[in-house]
Amino acid sequence: MKEMYAAEVARAVNGQLAADGNIMIRSVSTDTRSLEPGCLFVAIRGERFDGHNYIREALDKGAVLVMAEKGASIPDGVPAVLVEKTVEALGKLAEYHRSRFHIPVIAVTGSVGKTSTKEMIAATLSAGLKVHKTKGNFNNEIGLPLSVLELDDSCQAAVFEMGMRGFGEIDYLTRIVRPDIAVITNIGISHIERLGSRQNILKAKLEIIRGMQDDGVVLLNGDDELLSGLKGLLKQKTLFYGMDETCDIRASDLLSKGEEGISFSVQCPAWEHRFFVPAPGIHNVQNALAAISVAMTLEFDCGTIEKGLLSYTGDRMRMNIVDVDGIKVINDAYNAAPASVSSALRVLSEIGVNRRKWAVLGDMLELGEWAEDAHREIGMQVAESGIDYLVAIGDLARWYVEGASDHGMPLENTRLFQNAEDAQNYLSQKLARGDVILFKGSRKMNLDLLADRLFGG
Ligand code: ATP
Ligand code: MG
Repeated sequence: MKEMYAAEVARAVNGQLAADGNIMIRSVSTDTRSLEPGCLFVAIRGERFDGHNYIREALDKGAVLVMAEKGASIPDGVPAVLVEKTVEALGKLAEYHRSRFHIPVIAVTGSVGKTSTKEMIAATLSAGLKVHKTKGNFNNEIGLPLSVLELDDSCQAAVFEMGMRGFGEIDYLTRIVRPDIAVITNIGISHIERLGSRQNILKAKLEIIRGMQDDGVVLLNGDDELLSGLKGLLKQKTLFYGMDETCDIRASDLLSKGEEGISFSVQCPAWEHRFFVPAPGIHNVQNALAAISVAMTLEFDCGTIEKGLLSYTGDRMRMNIVDVDGIKVINDAYNAAPASVSSALRVLSEIGVNRRKWAVLGDMLELGEWAEDAHREIGMQVAESGIDYLVAIGDLARWYVEGASDHGMPLENTRLFQNAEDAQNYLSQKLARGDVILFKGSRKMNLDLLADRLFGG
């Protein structure tokens, strides 16, 4: 982090300074388990913990300044900045910190693929610039400001992920980040229970442009039904990437190299070039196109983009493909929304050519009244993409089975289990060398534990 004086902190957050204004902070932390000496400790009241109870511990570990809420009981004589709400103050501090940098800042939102796309953009830009990025999935009103506050003078570009569950959240984050380039990966139906319709989800994601200057650039997935409808409607320069012929940055001639990745050609107004993305699944071509579009906007040449993209390594918790005793295991049990299950099934088909293919699918949660249709559609895709066996786990999972059998999958090739434990015995008896098996489901379905028990953690 680029250092900051206590007086500057107090000014930025409109807080009351109860400390020597010349105290200098070198980082910001909300968690005493990971804080570094010289930091500002921000006490946040969470659902389970109240950071105000950890102030003494923070000071013992080397925090030099504390941000706390007025009225909270804090130890006497603690160097502090007092504010009404620490979460909001953290946002204001990040907004101020952001304004100290004149580097290209990229923000990524969308229903699925945010982290993957953020990582791919960072990898690609790293071939030419020193890039700062959101660590892991720090994409909410606390994680995002903390990521912004890590910026220092060595950073030449920054990529931040923005998540949301309802209206107003992206608006809040984008006003902190002030992106020069905004990327929206797609409009799916994650969190639709809260927002009511895909149009509303689109509106909520589009809040991202409210924090942009008029000369910012918006990059949208042109293969997405709703996003492609935005042509000519935004005041910022807008470019579309995708496989559709109308896209400004367009991929064609895809060639899968199995689990290694996919090669593809890209046409854009200025050039045409063939790239390789070292990650399987067509969805990764889309993520790569987002990264290529960002790099193109920043005037990278094709050779540099190609080199950067090749350095991409997927995130550990995302699609993880390993060989265990001759069985190929695709563990993508981190979470499940219809779009990501659909892309995972495509990866299973790509990798499983000429092998017995198993889809182990747990419920997709939080879909409200869309749940039945969404599960049936995935069932249909299982039947139509040549997958041999479907193991469905959960309460909603029966619709996977119905969707699959309605579209020609023999019922004897499907199994329905109430929970992951019940499926374990069955799978351990049936699996054989040479098989390929995909695990995918909402986090709460514990399919990652099932995969671990069957194949070792
Ligand atoms: P979260 O909301 O949890 O932060 P996210 O939007 O960051 O999720 P990722 O973590 O990148 O998304 O990916 C989630 C899942 O979606 C993974 O299973 C991944 O394989 C799949 N996926 C990644 N990119 C895409 C894409 N462009 N379209 C569809 N699925 C994708
Ligand atoms: Mg994420």
